[in-house]
Amino acid sequence: MARANESFMRLSSGYLFPEIARRTKIWQEKHPDAKIMRLGIGNTTEALPPVLVDAMKHKLDLLSDRKTYTGYGDEQGDTELRKALSEYYRKHYGVSVPVSDFFVSDGAKSDAANIQEIFSADSIIAVQDPAYPVYVDSNVAGGHSGCFDNVSGRYAGIVYMAGNAENGFVPVPPSGHVDLIYLCFPNNPTGAVATKKQLKAFVDYAIAEKAVIIFDAAYSEYIETEGIPHTIYEIEGAERCAIEISSFSKSAGFTGVRLGWSIVPETLEVENAPAGTIHRLWNRRQTTFFNGASNIAQAGGLAALGDEGHQACLSLVDYYKGNARIIKEGLESIGLRCYGGTDSPYIWAECRNGMTSWEFFDFLLDKAHVVVTPGSGFGVAGEGYVRVSAYGHREDVEAAVASIKEHIND
Ligand SMILES: *Cc1c(COP(=O)(O)O)cnc(C)c1O
Repeated sequence: MARANESFMRLSSGYLFPEIARRTKIWQEKHPDAKIMRLGIGNTTEALPPVLVDAMKHKLDLLSDRKTYTGYGDEQGDTELRKALSEYYRKHYGVSVPVSDFFVSDGAKSDAANIQEIFSADSIIAVQDPAYPVYVDSNVAGGHSGCFDNVSGRYAGIVYMAGNAENGFVPVPPSGHVDLIYLCFPNNPTGAVATKKQLKAFVDYAIAEKAVIIFDAAYSEYIETEGIPHTIYEIEGAERCAIEISSFSKSAGFTGVRLGWSIVPETLEVENAPAGTIHRLWNRRQTTFFNGASNIAQAGGLAALGDEGHQACLSLVDYYKGNARIIKEGLESIGLRCYGGTDSPYIWAECRNGMTSWEFFDFLLDKAHVVVTPGSGFGVAGEGYVRVSAYGHREDVEAAVASIKEHIND
């Protein structure tokens, strides 16, 4: 008889977004005339920059003619795009990453979920808490954890590095040995960024322990603070111990278009195999299980890396950061303690009067008609906070913030 995958069954029920939807629906049914305002989602809302649209339209024209039509491309991505990525890292971040270390994908989420496959089944995993859920869930599904414990709200066998107000939501490396460390800066959900010194501590740890860092840089284009690294490869030694995963989703508005990339260095070291092995395994994995990203999306990505495209993307990012400023200033003006929101589209706000995340969620929905995301949904260390997202039309963000300010003392 066929048996279901027990590791998959170990996944705790996806609770956060369904529960938000459930509570919002019940409230709307009770208040049919009220207009609910949403600052809960991490999804882009503004139109694609015209220069990227033109590049994708042009690619469609090429595909429309049998003389210029192309089918499958390289699984690792179009060479032009990989070259442009390498050049972008050199020009904007001052780091040298070989073209062949880039693997183009259909987005950072798939890579973040799939990368655990090429590491040993008994790997010990460390994650930030709170965190983007895919790091933990992919490792649970991949069999790298014990069972979920309802009391602690955590999986056995996974090392949780707690972020809190004291450490500014940037944890220090684990005290014991781990094999894989997932880091995300600028962070979703807290908006925290890590300094060179803080990242260097992780790189030093990884080299000493022969551990590998999986660095999610999806929000690096939101960094404005001088001196904050945009890529883990700004840290000396990272090419020996770090994989970087990134995306056009949040920088170019490609959440629906779908395009990302990973850097898996040839020089990456592991305990049981020579340098180059992990790079080769990822190449093997991608060429076997993946047929490449959409060629239309890749044409758009190439345009996003050019000078004109880059400027247009920066304007898009600026728009969302303007929203973030409005949210942060608005919430701080009514005495809420806020983190993030400067190098990030997310504001991490402490709940009012010691409420739990869900209590504050219900309060904001009921009084201000605004939906946010309960921090506890990202991990137990997120309790007592909510994530407020800057993704939305300016006028909607302004209305939502005005409503919170008006009703915070109801
Ligand atoms: C939005 C987001 C991504 C991007 O995922 P895509 O699959 O490229 O759309 C990656 N990591 C984090 C933490 C995110 O919030």
